[in-house]
Amino acid sequence: MTTFVLFGGTGDLAKRKIIPALYSAFVNGRLDAEFTFIGAAREALSDEEFRLRVANSIDTYAAKVGGSKEQVAAFLALTGYSKIDAKIPEDFDALKARVSTDTSKAKLFYLAVGPDIFIPVVEQLSKHGLVEGNARVVVEKPLGRDAKSAKEINSALRSYLNENQIYRIDHYLGKEMVQNLFALRFANSFLEPLWNRKWVQDVQISISEQVGVETRGDFYDKTGALRDMVQNHLLQLVSIVAMEPPVNANPDAIRDEKVKVLRALRKFNADDVSKKTVRGQYRAGAVDGKPVIGYQNEAGVPSATRTETFVAIKAEIDNWRWAGVPFYLRTGKRMASRCAEITINFKPIPYSIFGKGQGPLRSNRLVITLQPEESVQLFMKAKEPGEGIRLSDVALNLDFAEASSSRRVESYERLLLDALHGDLTLFVRDDELGAAWEWIDPIMHAWSNDAEGLKSYIAGSWGPAAASYLLAQHGAAWGEEYVEG
Ligand code: NAP
Repeated sequence: MTTFVLFGGTGDLAKRKIIPALYSAFVNGRLDAEFTFIGAAREALSDEEFRLRVANSIDTYAAKVGGSKEQVAAFLALTGYSKIDAKIPEDFDALKARVSTDTSKAKLFYLAVGPDIFIPVVEQLSKHGLVEGNARVVVEKPLGRDAKSAKEINSALRSYLNENQIYRIDHYLGKEMVQNLFALRFANSFLEPLWNRKWVQDVQISISEQVGVETRGDFYDKTGALRDMVQNHLLQLVSIVAMEPPVNANPDAIRDEKVKVLRALRKFNADDVSKKTVRGQYRAGAVDGKPVIGYQNEAGVPSATRTETFVAIKAEIDNWRWAGVPFYLRTGKRMASRCAEITINFKPIPYSIFGKGQGPLRSNRLVITLQPEESVQLFMKAKEPGEGIRLSDVALNLDFAEASSSRRVESYERLLLDALHGDLTLFVRDDELGAAWEWIDPIMHAWSNDAEGLKSYIAGSWGPAAASYLLAQHGAAWGEEYVEG
């Protein structure tokens, strides 16, 4: 029997992601027979009223999952609600009465609430004896605003929980392709000899979004792209691409190797920040042919704000494998297309026997696409059919939708199931989080002393021109900038 308690059960994340993920796990027979789901928030709701919200969330956001009316009804029958203000200790008494006191029974508490509420919730769970034994707590980002605040949150969490009870979620790690990266790197022999400074020219990791700040302008403006995307998702991808082979596939063996990469990231001084980082903010433009307003006119965003909605960084990893190989990182809102991609650009051939005008000589590259569709493409040179020699770029294409008919599991569902089963592999350990913030802190600090550094870019573009120059000065270019021929 497992009890799943969702703090913030009435919030945006719960309705769009967590409830649909839980429902999908239920429909696909992945929850145990006596599973119970309790939503918790301050709003006074009866069980029945909460079930109506859950039904709405399934209706609106779980269409892809399918499932019959009977399955929806059966899922709702497992569902209940507990009115809790995290700051009122007595409110937890009613929750305690609904949760089994048997410490061998699994309990998962998911904190889909603001970070200011994490500690009051965990403190009361602990004081009510609810985190003893087989109990785990999932915490959402953002975990802190800088290294100091992250450390404070971590040490407060650790005063009530063991590290192996804390599941710091980064939903990028739940993506199928991110796990495929482990398979690609550590279950194939031919890539490893090439996966280093001898053969790799540069690595690019780019996460571009077409959406703006939607309804979360106030939150986003206090956060910015560096904290919202780079500190967590991008650095997690860097650590997986760059890590050494772990000794086995246990969570701590993998996380030991990831944290070494984060610690090896070269820290920036103020001069490095001005030369190796670009930050931007979108102004009005058009995305997919439709006009969109500028960031400063978005709801909840102050009109003269200096918050960045775009970041590009030239990062370097100081270790034997990667010394001298730039890792170009980029993320932005209101960009030309929605895409999350890792590109390993291999070094050019030492000498070409083919003359100019015989086709593209862009070197080989491995492109791992996380979204919108998942794929791995290895771009090779081949001869175009016909007379004479004309080269073209041909992709060896691994299309996962075609290659396997297995059910696709969305990242929130996968991570929820991992947390329910006690698998920490795809969750972030406290030292990883700390190392990521330690690298981010000097960048934030330098930006706060440099009001002029924020560039403007047109919504629907690929960001400020300075982001292209960041690479061009080293003879490199972002994927979309190559002109073949
Ligand atoms: P939200 O829509 O504002 O929901 C917040 C939830 O917390 C509501 O259910 C609210 O219900 C509850 N809550 C607030 N104060 C409370 C208190 N004192 N005691 C108990 N419950 C309380 O926020 P959200 O967008 O869902 O985000 C939740 C967390 O996930 C945040 O940390 C956010 O940064 C993170 N996150 C969100 C997204 C996203 O796409 N939304 C993505 C990644 C991470 P009541 O007001 O009724 O109490």
